[in-house]
Amino acid sequence: ILKKYVDGIPTETDLVVKLGETIELKAPKGSSCFLVKNLYLSCDPYMRGRMRDFHGSYLPPFVPGQRIEGFGLARVIDSDDANYKSGDIISGITGWEEYSLLRSSNELQLRKIQLDDGIPLSYHLGLFGMAGFTAYAGFYEICSPKKGESVLVSAASGAVGQLVGQLAKLHGCYVVGSAGSEQKVDLLKDKLGFDEAFNYKEQTDLDAALKRYFPEGINIYFDNVGGSMLDAALLNMKVRGRIALCGMVSLQSLSSSSQGINNLYNAIPKRVRLEGFLQSDYLHIFPQFLEHVKGYYKEGKIVYIEDMCEGLELAPAALVGLFSGKNIGKQVVCVAKE
Ligand code: NDP
Repeated sequence: ILKKYVDGIPTETDLVVKLGETIELKAPKGSSCFLVKNLYLSCDPYMRGRMRDFHGSYLPPFVPGQRIEGFGLARVIDSDDANYKSGDIISGITGWEEYSLLRSSNELQLRKIQLDDGIPLSYHLGLFGMAGFTAYAGFYEICSPKKGESVLVSAASGAVGQLVGQLAKLHGCYVVGSAGSEQKVDLLKDKLGFDEAFNYKEQTDLDAALKRYFPEGINIYFDNVGGSMLDAALLNMKVRGRIALCGMVSLQSLSSSSQGINNLYNAIPKRVRLEGFLQSDYLHIFPQFLEHVKGYYKEGKIVYIEDMCEGLELAPAALVGLFSGKNIGKQVVCVAKE
Protein backbone atom coordinates (compact mmCIF):
# COMPACT_ATOMS: atom_id res chain seq x y z
CA ILE A 1 0.00 0.00 0.00
CA LEU A 2 1.39 3.40 -0.96
CA LYS A 3 1.38 5.56 2.19
CA LYS A 4 1.57 8.93 0.43
CA TYR A 5 2.98 10.48 -2.73
CA VAL A 6 6.75 10.37 -2.83
CA ASP A 7 9.27 13.15 -3.39
CA GLY A 8 12.85 12.22 -4.29
CA ILE A 9 14.22 8.69 -4.12
CA PRO A 10 11.56 6.33 -2.71
CA THR A 11 12.33 4.40 0.47
CA GLU A 12 10.92 1.17 1.87
CA THR A 13 8.83 3.11 4.39
CA ASP A 14 6.89 4.84 1.59
CA LEU A 15 5.06 1.51 1.24
CA VAL A 16 3.37 -0.52 3.94
CA VAL A 17 2.50 -4.23 3.91
CA LYS A 18 -0.75 -5.13 5.62
CA LEU A 19 -1.16 -8.80 6.50
CA GLY A 20 -3.98 -10.87 7.89
CA GLU A 21 -7.19 -9.81 6.14
CA THR A 22 -9.51 -12.76 5.41
CA ILE A 23 -11.36 -12.87 2.11
CA GLU A 24 -13.62 -15.42 0.47
CA LEU A 25 -11.70 -17.16 -2.31
CA LYS A 26 -14.52 -16.94 -4.87
CA ALA A 27 -15.21 -14.96 -8.03
CA PRO A 28 -18.73 -13.57 -7.43
CA LYS A 29 -21.37 -15.04 -9.79
CA GLY A 30 -22.39 -12.60 -12.51
CA SER A 31 -19.34 -10.40 -11.92
CA SER A 32 -17.40 -11.51 -15.10
CA CYS A 33 -14.35 -11.50 -12.81
CA PHE A 34 -11.80 -14.16 -12.07
CA LEU A 35 -9.88 -14.69 -8.87
CA VAL A 36 -6.13 -15.31 -9.05
CA LYS A 37 -3.47 -16.35 -6.59
CA ASN A 38 -0.45 -14.14 -7.26
CA LEU A 39 2.78 -16.11 -7.65
CA TYR A 40 5.44 -13.65 -8.85
CA LEU A 41 5.44 -9.84 -9.02
CA SER A 42 7.66 -7.76 -11.27
CA CYS A 43 9.50 -4.70 -9.90
CA ASP A 44 9.75 -2.10 -12.68
CA PRO A 45 11.23 1.41 -12.74
CA TYR A 46 8.08 2.91 -14.34
CA MET A 47 6.29 2.23 -11.03
CA ARG A 48 8.23 5.15 -9.49
CA GLY A 49 6.30 7.46 -11.85
CA ARG A 50 3.03 6.20 -10.36
CA MET A 51 4.17 7.13 -6.84
CA ARG A 52 3.83 10.85 -7.49
CA ASP A 53 0.78 13.06 -7.87
CA PHE A 54 1.12 13.57 -11.63
CA HIS A 55 -1.67 12.83 -14.07
CA GLY A 56 0.04 13.74 -17.36
CA SER A 57 1.74 10.38 -18.01
CA TYR A 58 0.55 7.28 -19.86
CA LEU A 59 -0.54 5.67 -16.57
CA PRO A 60 -2.42 7.30 -13.67
CA PRO A 61 -0.76 7.64 -10.24
CA PHE A 62 -1.31 5.02 -7.53
CA VAL A 63 -3.84 6.04 -4.91
CA PRO A 64 -2.37 6.61 -1.41
CA GLY A 65 -3.95 4.21 1.06
CA GLN A 66 -4.69 1.63 -1.61
CA ARG A 67 -2.64 -1.37 -2.69
CA ILE A 68 -0.41 -0.85 -5.67
CA GLU A 69 -0.37 -2.92 -8.86
CA GLY A 70 2.10 -4.05 -11.48
CA PHE A 71 2.97 -6.86 -13.84
CA GLY A 72 2.63 -10.27 -12.24
CA LEU A 73 2.24 -13.99 -12.85
CA ALA A 74 -0.76 -15.61 -11.23
CA ARG A 75 -2.81 -18.83 -11.14
CA VAL A 76 -6.57 -18.65 -11.68
CA ILE A 77 -8.36 -20.30 -8.76
CA ASP A 78 -12.01 -19.39 -9.47
CA SER A 79 -13.64 -17.76 -12.45
CA ASP A 80 -16.84 -16.12 -13.66
CA ASP A 81 -15.22 -15.36 -17.03
CA ALA A 82 -15.54 -18.10 -19.68
CA ASN A 83 -12.10 -17.15 -21.09
CA TYR A 84 -10.27 -18.07 -17.90
CA LYS A 85 -10.59 -21.32 -16.01
CA SER A 86 -9.26 -22.58 -12.73
CA GLY A 87 -5.62 -23.69 -13.10
CA ASP A 88 -4.73 -21.27 -15.93
CA ILE A 89 -1.50 -19.36 -15.42
CA ILE A 90 -1.77 -15.76 -16.57
CA SER A 91 0.49 -12.75 -16.77
CA GLY A 92 -0.64 -9.14 -16.78
CA ILE A 93 -1.30 -6.28 -14.41
CA THR A 94 -2.31 -7.61 -11.03
CA GLY A 95 -2.44 -6.35 -7.44
CA TRP A 96 0.55 -6.41 -5.10
CA GLU A 97 -1.32 -8.78 -2.78
CA GLU A 98 -1.74 -12.52 -2.29
CA TYR A 99 -5.04 -12.82 -4.18
CA SER A 100 -6.57 -10.48 -6.76
CA LEU A 101 -10.00 -10.27 -8.30
CA LEU A 102 -9.48 -9.27 -11.94
CA ARG A 103 -11.83 -8.26 -14.75
CA SER A 104 -10.41 -8.67 -18.24
CA SER A 105 -9.58 -5.46 -20.12
CA ASN A 106 -6.92 -4.33 -22.60
CA GLU A 107 -5.20 -2.21 -19.96
CA LEU A 108 -4.34 -5.32 -17.94
CA GLN A 109 -2.31 -6.76 -20.89
CA LEU A 110 -3.50 -10.24 -19.86
CA ARG A 111 -1.87 -13.22 -21.49
CA LYS A 112 -2.25 -16.95 -20.83
CA ILE A 113 1.11 -18.59 -20.23
CA GLN A 114 1.94 -21.84 -22.03
CA LEU A 115 4.09 -23.75 -19.57
CA ASP A 116 7.26 -24.92 -21.18
CA ASP A 117 9.68 -27.48 -19.76
CA GLY A 118 13.05 -26.03 -18.98
CA ILE A 119 11.78 -22.45 -18.62
CA PRO A 120 11.43 -21.21 -15.03
CA LEU A 121 7.92 -19.81 -14.53
CA SER A 122 9.23 -16.45 -13.29
CA TYR A 123 11.05 -15.91 -16.62
CA HIS A 124 7.64 -15.08 -18.09
CA LEU A 125 7.91 -11.80 -16.16
CA GLY A 126 11.45 -11.02 -17.30
CA LEU A 127 13.09 -12.64 -20.29
CA PHE A 128 9.77 -13.71 -21.87
CA GLY A 129 7.71 -10.91 -20.33
CA MET A 130 7.50 -7.13 -20.53
CA ALA A 131 11.22 -6.48 -19.91
CA GLY A 132 12.45 -8.92 -22.52
CA PHE A 133 9.87 -7.70 -24.98
CA THR A 134 10.98 -4.09 -24.42
CA ALA A 135 14.55 -5.11 -25.28
CA TYR A 136 13.39 -6.95 -28.41
CA ALA A 137 10.99 -4.27 -29.71
CA GLY A 138 13.41 -1.45 -28.86
CA PHE A 139 16.42 -3.08 -30.45
CA TYR A 140 14.90 -4.38 -33.68
CA GLU A 141 12.10 -1.84 -34.29
CA ILE A 142 13.75 1.37 -33.07
CA CYS A 143 17.51 0.84 -33.44
CA SER A 144 17.45 -0.68 -36.99
CA PRO A 145 20.68 -2.60 -36.24
CA LYS A 146 23.17 -3.73 -38.86
CA LYS A 147 25.89 -6.32 -38.51
CA GLY A 148 29.20 -4.81 -37.46
CA GLU A 149 27.69 -1.69 -35.86
CA SER A 150 28.78 -0.38 -32.45
CA VAL A 151 26.20 -0.40 -29.66
CA LEU A 152 26.15 1.24 -26.21
CA VAL A 153 23.64 -0.01 -23.61
CA SER A 154 23.10 1.70 -20.24
CA ALA A 155 21.72 -0.04 -17.10
CA ALA A 156 23.14 -2.93 -19.08
CA SER A 157 22.90 -5.66 -16.43
CA GLY A 158 19.24 -4.90 -15.69
CA ALA A 159 16.08 -6.61 -16.85
CA VAL A 160 16.00 -4.89 -20.26
CA GLY A 161 19.68 -4.08 -20.81
CA GLN A 162 21.03 -7.60 -20.42
CA LEU A 163 18.86 -8.85 -23.28
CA VAL A 164 19.56 -5.84 -25.53
CA GLY A 165 23.28 -6.53 -25.24
CA GLN A 166 22.91 -10.24 -25.98
CA LEU A 167 20.62 -9.62 -28.98
CA ALA A 168 23.10 -7.08 -30.30
CA LYS A 169 25.96 -9.59 -29.98
CA LEU A 170 23.89 -12.24 -31.78
CA HIS A 171 23.30 -9.66 -34.52
CA GLY A 172 27.06 -9.30 -35.02
CA CYS A 173 27.49 -5.94 -33.30
CA TYR A 174 30.27 -4.63 -31.03
CA VAL A 175 28.60 -4.07 -27.66
CA VAL A 176 29.60 -2.02 -24.61
CA GLY A 177 27.52 -1.86 -21.43
CA SER A 178 27.54 0.63 -18.57
CA ALA A 179 26.52 -0.42 -15.07
CA GLY A 180 26.83 0.81 -11.51
CA SER A 181 29.21 -1.65 -9.81
CA GLU A 182 32.28 -3.78 -10.45
CA GLN A 183 30.21 -6.92 -9.84
CA LYS A 184 27.80 -5.89 -12.61
CA VAL A 185 30.66 -5.02 -14.95
CA ASP A 186 32.16 -8.48 -14.42
CA LEU A 187 28.78 -10.09 -15.12
CA LEU A 188 28.43 -8.19 -18.37
CA LYS A 189 31.81 -9.30 -19.62
CA ASP A 190 32.03 -12.81 -18.17
CA LYS A 191 28.45 -14.09 -18.27
CA LEU A 192 26.48 -11.94 -20.68
CA GLY A 193 29.05 -11.76 -23.47
CA PHE A 194 29.42 -7.97 -23.82
CA ASP A 195 32.66 -6.99 -25.56
CA GLU A 196 33.37 -4.32 -22.96
CA ALA A 197 31.71 -2.87 -19.88
CA PHE A 198 32.47 -0.05 -17.45
CA ASN A 199 31.28 1.27 -14.11
CA TYR A 200 29.81 4.69 -14.87
CA LYS A 201 30.04 5.68 -11.21
CA GLU A 202 33.84 5.50 -11.39
CA GLN A 203 34.16 7.79 -14.42
CA THR A 204 34.99 11.43 -13.84
CA ASP A 205 34.50 12.15 -17.55
CA LEU A 206 31.84 10.07 -19.34
CA ASP A 207 32.67 11.64 -22.72
CA ALA A 208 36.32 10.53 -22.39
CA ALA A 209 35.19 7.04 -21.31
CA LEU A 210 32.96 6.67 -24.38
CA LYS A 211 35.79 7.89 -26.62
CA ARG A 212 37.99 5.13 -25.19
CA TYR A 213 35.42 2.40 -25.87
CA PHE A 214 34.19 3.83 -29.17
CA PRO A 215 37.17 5.54 -30.86
CA GLU A 216 35.20 5.62 -34.12
CA GLY A 217 31.87 6.57 -32.57
CA ILE A 218 28.58 4.90 -31.63
CA ASN A 219 26.02 3.68 -34.15
CA ILE A 220 23.34 2.76 -31.62
CA TYR A 221 22.71 3.94 -28.08
CA PHE A 222 19.99 2.01 -26.21
CA ASP A 223 19.23 4.49 -23.44
CA ASN A 224 17.77 3.19 -20.19
CA VAL A 225 18.93 6.03 -17.96
CA GLY A 226 18.83 9.49 -19.63
CA GLY A 227 20.73 12.35 -17.95
CA SER A 228 24.52 12.58 -18.16
CA MET A 229 25.01 9.28 -20.05
CA LEU A 230 22.63 10.42 -22.79
CA ASP A 231 24.41 13.76 -22.92
CA ALA A 232 27.83 12.09 -23.28
CA ALA A 233 26.48 9.66 -25.90
CA LEU A 234 25.23 12.61 -27.97
CA LEU A 235 28.85 13.80 -28.25
CA ASN A 236 29.96 10.39 -29.54
CA MET A 237 27.32 9.33 -32.06
CA LYS A 238 28.30 8.49 -35.60
CA VAL A 239 26.60 10.10 -38.59
CA ARG A 240 23.08 8.61 -38.91
CA GLY A 241 23.34 7.01 -35.48
CA ARG A 242 20.17 5.95 -33.65
CA ILE A 243 19.27 6.52 -30.02
CA ALA A 244 16.39 4.47 -28.59
CA LEU A 245 14.93 6.40 -25.66
CA CYS A 246 13.69 3.48 -23.59
CA GLY A 247 13.73 4.94 -20.07
CA MET A 248 15.26 7.65 -17.92
CA VAL A 249 15.72 5.96 -14.57
CA SER A 250 18.36 8.52 -13.53
CA LEU A 251 15.75 11.28 -13.67
CA GLN A 252 12.77 9.48 -12.20
CA SER A 253 13.32 10.54 -8.62
CA LEU A 254 14.37 14.13 -9.34
CA SER A 255 11.86 16.82 -8.51
CA SER A 256 13.36 19.25 -11.04
CA SER A 257 12.26 18.82 -14.65
CA SER A 258 15.81 19.50 -15.93
CA GLN A 259 17.01 16.75 -18.26
CA GLY A 260 20.70 17.69 -17.83
CA ILE A 261 21.14 17.62 -21.63
CA ASN A 262 23.53 20.15 -23.18
CA ASN A 263 24.65 18.34 -26.32
CA LEU A 264 21.41 17.81 -28.24
CA TYR A 265 22.64 20.11 -31.01
CA ASN A 266 25.06 17.35 -32.09
CA ALA A 267 22.12 15.33 -33.35
CA ILE A 268 21.70 17.82 -36.23
CA PRO A 269 25.09 17.74 -38.00
CA LYS A 270 25.35 13.99 -37.27
CA ARG A 271 21.75 13.38 -38.48
CA VAL A 272 21.11 11.26 -35.38
CA ARG A 273 17.60 9.86 -34.91
CA LEU A 274 16.32 9.89 -31.31
CA GLU A 275 13.11 7.95 -30.83
CA GLY A 276 11.15 7.29 -27.68
CA PHE A 277 9.00 4.19 -27.59
CA LEU A 278 6.61 2.20 -25.41
CA GLN A 279 6.70 -1.56 -25.60
CA SER A 280 2.89 -1.63 -25.47
CA ASP A 281 2.74 -0.13 -29.01
CA TYR A 282 4.41 -3.24 -30.44
CA LEU A 283 2.32 -6.02 -28.95
CA HIS A 284 1.49 -7.28 -32.46
CA ILE A 285 5.05 -8.67 -32.64
CA PHE A 286 4.88 -10.37 -29.22
CA PRO A 287 4.37 -13.88 -30.72
CA GLN A 288 7.37 -13.32 -33.03
CA PHE A 289 9.43 -12.16 -30.01
CA LEU A 290 8.51 -15.27 -28.00
CA GLU A 291 9.40 -17.62 -30.81
CA HIS A 292 12.67 -15.85 -31.60
CA VAL A 293 13.94 -15.42 -28.02
CA LYS A 294 12.71 -18.83 -26.80
CA GLY A 295 14.66 -20.34 -29.67
CA TYR A 296 17.83 -18.51 -28.64
CA TYR A 297 17.30 -19.49 -25.00
CA LYS A 298 16.75 -23.17 -25.76
CA GLU A 299 19.81 -23.26 -27.98
CA GLY A 300 21.85 -21.87 -25.07
CA LYS A 301 22.62 -18.67 -26.98
CA ILE A 302 21.25 -16.35 -24.33
CA VAL A 303 21.17 -16.45 -20.54
CA TYR A 304 19.11 -14.39 -18.13
CA ILE A 305 19.92 -13.12 -14.66
CA GLU A 306 17.16 -12.76 -12.11
CA ASP A 307 17.22 -11.22 -8.65
CA MET A 308 14.49 -13.02 -6.72
CA CYS A 309 13.26 -12.02 -3.28
CA GLU A 310 10.94 -14.32 -1.35
CA GLY A 311 7.83 -12.97 0.36
CA LEU A 312 5.45 -10.08 -0.13
CA GLU A 313 6.81 -8.43 3.02
CA LEU A 314 10.13 -7.86 1.20
CA ALA A 315 8.46 -6.33 -1.87
CA PRO A 316 8.85 -2.66 -0.80
CA ALA A 317 12.62 -3.06 -0.36
CA ALA A 318 12.89 -4.90 -3.67
CA LEU A 319 11.00 -2.19 -5.54
CA VAL A 320 12.87 0.80 -4.12
CA GLY A 321 16.19 -1.04 -4.55
CA LEU A 322 15.87 -0.45 -8.31
CA PHE A 323 16.59 3.23 -7.76
CA SER A 324 19.94 2.66 -6.06
CA GLY A 325 20.96 -0.24 -8.29
CA LYS A 326 20.63 -2.92 -5.56
CA ASN A 327 19.12 -5.37 -8.05
CA ILE A 328 21.41 -7.56 -10.08
CA GLY A 329 19.35 -8.59 -13.07
CA LYS A 330 15.57 -8.70 -13.29
CA GLN A 331 14.02 -7.95 -9.88
CA VAL A 332 11.15 -10.30 -9.07
CA VAL A 333 9.21 -10.91 -5.84
CA CYS A 334 8.04 -14.47 -5.18
CA VAL A 335 4.70 -14.32 -3.34
CA ALA A 336 3.93 -18.05 -3.65
CA LYS A 337 5.55 -20.80 -5.70
CA GLU A 338 2.34 -22.51 -6.87
P1 NDP B 1 16.70 -2.47 -14.30
O1 NDP B 1 16.56 -3.91 -14.03
O2 NDP B 1 17.81 -2.02 -15.19
O3 NDP B 1 16.80 -1.72 -12.89
C1 NDP B 1 17.03 -0.34 -12.83
C2 NDP B 1 18.54 -0.06 -12.89
O4 NDP B 1 18.72 1.31 -13.18
C3 NDP B 1 19.27 -0.25 -11.56
O5 NDP B 1 19.65 -1.57 -11.32
C4 NDP B 1 20.48 0.66 -11.74
O6 NDP B 1 21.53 -0.07 -12.37
C5 NDP B 1 19.98 1.73 -12.73
N1 NDP B 1 19.86 3.02 -12.07
C6 NDP B 1 19.14 3.32 -10.96
N2 NDP B 1 19.29 4.63 -10.66
C7 NDP B 1 20.14 5.15 -11.61
C8 NDP B 1 20.69 6.43 -11.83
N3 NDP B 1 20.40 7.48 -11.03
N4 NDP B 1 21.52 6.60 -12.89
C9 NDP B 1 21.83 5.57 -13.71
N5 NDP B 1 21.33 4.32 -13.53
C10 NDP B 1 20.51 4.12 -12.50
O7 NDP B 1 15.36 -1.89 -14.88
P2 NDP B 1 14.63 -2.34 -16.23
O8 NDP B 1 15.60 -3.09 -17.07
O9 NDP B 1 13.34 -2.96 -15.89
O10 NDP B 1 14.34 -0.96 -16.94
C11 NDP B 1 15.38 -0.27 -17.63
C12 NDP B 1 14.80 1.01 -18.24
O11 NDP B 1 13.85 0.65 -19.23
C13 NDP B 1 14.09 1.90 -17.23
O12 NDP B 1 14.40 3.24 -17.52
C14 NDP B 1 12.63 1.63 -17.51
O13 NDP B 1 11.80 2.69 -17.14
C15 NDP B 1 12.67 1.40 -19.02
N6 NDP B 1 11.55 0.65 -19.56
C16 NDP B 1 10.91 1.19 -20.63
C17 NDP B 1 9.88 0.52 -21.24
C18 NDP B 1 9.25 1.11 -22.45
O14 NDP B 1 8.24 0.57 -22.95
N7 NDP B 1 9.80 2.20 -22.97
C19 NDP B 1 9.38 -0.76 -20.71
C20 NDP B 1 10.18 -1.29 -19.62
C21 NDP B 1 11.23 -0.58 -19.06
P3 NDP B 1 23.07 0.36 -12.17
O15 NDP B 1 23.54 -0.33 -10.90
O16 NDP B 1 23.71 -0.14 -13.40
O17 NDP B 1 23.08 1.84 -12.00
